[in-house]
Amino acid sequence: MTEQNGKHEEYLLNIPKIKFTQLFINGDFVDSISGKKFETIDPRTGEVIAKIAEGDKQDVDLAVNAAREAFDHGPWPRLPGSERRKILLKFADLIEENINELAGLDAIDGGKLFSMAKMGDIPGAAETIRYFAGAADKIHGSTLKMSRELHGYTLREPIGVVGHIIPWNFPSQMFAMKVGPALAAGCTMVVKPAEQTPLSALYYAHLAKLAGIPDGVLNVVTGYGHSAGAAISSHMDVDKISFTGSTEVGRLVMQAAAASNLKPVCLELGGKSPFIVFDDVDVDKIAHLALIGTLFNKGEICVAGSRVFVQEGIYDEFLVKLLEKVKTWVVGDPFDPNTHQGPQVDKKQYERILSYIEHGKKEGATLLTGGKPLGGKGYYIEPTIFTDVEDDMTIAKEEIFGPVMSVMKFKTVEEVIKRANATKYGLAAGVMTNNLNIANTVSRSIRAGVIWVNCYFAFDRDLPYGGYKMSGFGRDMGMESLDAYLQVKSVAMPIHDSPW
Ligand code: NAD
Repeated sequence: MTEQNGKHEEYLLNIPKIKFTQLFINGDFVDSISGKKFETIDPRTGEVIAKIAEGDKQDVDLAVNAAREAFDHGPWPRLPGSERRKILLKFADLIEENINELAGLDAIDGGKLFSMAKMGDIPGAAETIRYFAGAADKIHGSTLKMSRELHGYTLREPIGVVGHIIPWNFPSQMFAMKVGPALAAGCTMVVKPAEQTPLSALYYAHLAKLAGIPDGVLNVVTGYGHSAGAAISSHMDVDKISFTGSTEVGRLVMQAAAASNLKPVCLELGGKSPFIVFDDVDVDKIAHLALIGTLFNKGEICVAGSRVFVQEGIYDEFLVKLLEKVKTWVVGDPFDPNTHQGPQVDKKQYERILSYIEHGKKEGATLLTGGKPLGGKGYYIEPTIFTDVEDDMTIAKEEIFGPVMSVMKFKTVEEVIKRANATKYGLAAGVMTNNLNIANTVSRSIRAGVIWVNCYFAFDRDLPYGGYKMSGFGRDMGMESLDAYLQVKSVAMPIHDSPW
């Protein structure tokens, strides 16, 4: 048992020891060339958890060289797919064997609920690796029926050295959904985890080595975006970038890719997703779903359904239910199994969310509940609901990435489609109705990459996931994401002796 504030809290035993703090390059943990380190902070307290090697351009060069060598001359891209599958399955098993430790790392580093990480994120990461392992020996091209006397076929080859730049909100799931398909395809890679949450990525690197992934195939460079991240996106020897993060940084990554070697990029960016509730629904059930749609992972989720449109006939009843339910929502230590919402990831994010709440108040929205920090240590914010929100208010337009819901009233299907689409983003949408015609009409009219009908956050490995408009392009998950790590090569030859 551990003693905290005079209380014995058994759950604190799940706080992990930090084993890996160095860069992982060419199969070894190494210090950064500069010797510099950065602090990773526990958002429960604001205190330092560990000092982590701060990689920059020189370290990225080493990691890219290792990945290049592993791609050009190493076994990984040349192995039969069935061999890569076996190794990836072992990797997935090792992830599951280390579930407590990995869940603890994401909880202490990012404020994520330990229980959620243990039940969802880490087993989900293992399953994602397994899903793509299953594809590793099924990558093939097609035979082409060409005009003239030609025999043609296509090969699907790994794209090469990939740079994965990932955010802090789902460190394990992001890691797996990026490296899983790239490894299955036969690529080699450099991963740059977010500076806020570097710990689990280093642990995954350790497990990848144990599983038998050859040296140089999977490298992890921890550090800051403006240095390590920028060095990856502008690197002449990186063949592809897969980026998840903010729209602003996505633009920089794309510019750097274009200005260097024109490498293709996939961008999974921000969102401001509508959650649309028609007046034929079970109000109690859907109010609960709406709350989860905004507050899950303390609102730090790109597909948060934080613009809640409620049809006028049930608007008042819906607010009563929301209020009833939010009262039972527990904010607290993410290691405590009774907690629903942990601290925001860091001080910057915490202050940003509080400033959006101030905007909401100043611009005239009604604060139904919440709106304050919890006080004391750590970056905790009350679950916050604004009503009477107008479409042009800042809180209705900008991605808050925190536990803040904006509720808006609407009358007709046509009106809500127009208002839901009146955003620069297009990541996801929720449509809550028992009327099939409405469900179909709205699903097809919303310009977003994922539409959830009578459910929300219904993720699946099979469900490709990504944005329209300024939420980016390219897809994670599903077989679509595997395609992003493959090139198509066409081969043509005469069938008979011919003058070609
Ligand atoms: P961010 O854009 O600040 O950082 C993301 C990553 O990019 C980090 O690893 C960071 O170090 C790196 N980076 C920063 N500057 C860089 C630069 N100049 N060049 C290269 N890399 C750089 O985003 P964040 O604050 O970590 O994450 C929150 C954002 O991510 C939100 O906008 C959220 O919507 C988005 N997000 C999108 C998805 C999705 O699938 N669409 C999923 C999760 C998060």
